[in-house]
Amino acid sequence: MPEGHTIHRLAKDYAEAFVTGGPLRVTSPQGKFSDAAALLDRTPLHATDAHGKHLFLGFAEPEPEHADWVHIHLGLFGKVTFGPAPAPPPTDTVRLRLADDTSYVDLRGPATCALITDGEKRAVHDRLGPDPLRPDADPARAYRRISRSRTTIAALLMDQKVIAGVGNVYRAEVLFRHGIDPYRAGRDIRPAQWDAIWADLVALMREGVRHNRIDTVRPEHTPEAMGRPPRVDDHGGEVYVYRRAHLPCHICGGEIRTADLAARNLFWCPACQRP
Ligand SMILES: [Zn+2]
Repeated sequence: MPEGHTIHRLAKDYAEAFVTGGPLRVTSPQGKFSDAAALLDRTPLHATDAHGKHLFLGFAEPEPEHADWVHIHLGLFGKVTFGPAPAPPPTDTVRLRLADDTSYVDLRGPATCALITDGEKRAVHDRLGPDPLRPDADPARAYRRISRSRTTIAALLMDQKVIAGVGNVYRAEVLFRHGIDPYRAGRDIRPAQWDAIWADLVALMREGVRHNRIDTVRPEHTPEAMGRPPRVDDHGGEVYVYRRAHLPCHICGGEIRTADLAARNLFWCPACQRP
């Protein structure tokens, strides 16, 4: 499942390709979004927005009470592909295609693709925790929930109602970077630790948006600095623990461990992240 940086990157990419352009051709070759696409067809895209793993495309709409946001959640299988005009004939897996004279973008296989009103969009924001990539995010809101919880910090970081946009890679990496045992209860995370985790997530995830991949190793632990071969993994990026089970820790040389937590694989270094 893509993490928040991917969704914010998509919001930027949709905006760069289509916002301030003219009316778009909006279609649903697959048919599942045809009625909504017909309503939006030949209107311009006026804004994009992202919160956690939710993407919103805002269409100019002459009648304000009408739904005018397309709410997209990629889920496990959703994919977005941009390309130059002319768009190729769409395959019948394309849920939503936007196209103009210069480019097109196809959305396939999303968990959610729905036309919603401004009020419905606000409701989505309200049920999500603060997103480190949003300028309006309030980290204290997340800490209020974390500091009252007996749940592990590793599970809380994956709970989108607590903090939005963090997925399996960022949660493992940020806990490693702060030497925090993933099984520590939320209520045992001190305020200064939370402040440091939050600040680090903001910086790491912004980097993620910029480079479109997750890199979390500090300059002294890059392959060049350590004289080690670069990581080989289809997720790309240099990391400390994610998918490095049984490999030596870049800092202490001990073995990285893995376990199931909140239905996802957790990775950590028991020596660097002591209880
Ligand atoms: Zn270690």
